[in-house]
Amino acid sequence: MTTIADNLQRIGLRIRVAATDAGRSPDDVRLLAVSKTFDANAVRDAFEAGQRQFGENYVQEGVEKITLLHDLPLTWHMIGPMQANKTRAVAEHFQWVHSVDRERIARRLSEQRPAHLPPLQVCIQVNVDGGLSKSGVSPADAPALARLVAGLPQLQLRGLMSIPEPSEDPTMQRAVHDQARALFDDIGRQLRADGVAGAEAWDTLSLGMSADLEPAIAAGSTLVRVGTAIFGRRDKPTSPEPTAA
Ligand SMILES: *Cc1c(COP(=O)(O)O)cnc(C)c1O
Repeated sequence: MTTIADNLQRIGLRIRVAATDAGRSPDDVRLLAVSKTFDANAVRDAFEAGQRQFGENYVQEGVEKITLLHDLPLTWHMIGPMQANKTRAVAEHFQWVHSVDRERIARRLSEQRPAHLPPLQVCIQVNVDGGLSKSGVSPADAPALARLVAGLPQLQLRGLMSIPEPSEDPTMQRAVHDQARALFDDIGRQLRADGVAGAEAWDTLSLGMSADLEPAIAAGSTLVRVGTAIFGRRDKPTSPEPTAA
């Protein structure tokens, strides 16, 4: 068995244990394999071990892999920050985007999504703990952005994504994940109460990575984004892509 297949088994087990401990069904937690910096062969290995959903952070790198692997039935998620001049490539190649954090990006993605493709599945990225180093809409502005996305024709609003500041302390990790969960529930309630079209598709809480997937699942994550624990350490520095629009 390859290391990647081994690692996928281990992660599957961690997810099952965490879900069971939280009184949840393991089937309610999806695994996204984050393949950034790893090549198409690593993705093929993961595919052969049964993995179908993959996440990429960098538009160019992601599009190259998607093109190389077009023979495989994979679902691709964009999870990194996007410059406005990269939205077309995302709209044309990915099925999901987790990192929509402003109106301009949302509008461009909808306008540029080719009409023959199903709507792009969108999570709003929210900066729950106010970390300065990363993108994400503030919790206060998240509901308005969610409504805007719900109203755009070529986007389907699915939920929230959050990346807490790194912490070694599971109690801290859990507290931040709980805040994301509370916001997720609030927005879902508002959308349903107001009869917003598409509110029933609000079902995805993208929370948790290699180091904190247990507290994320305890808080209610429905999708964990795991890179290192599947593919190994990323020793190549990730190609910097400025986050400013
Ligand atoms: C890189 C990355 C991950 C995966 O992180 P690991 O710690 O390697 O599991 C998850 N989510 C986002 C947004 C990332 O950029």
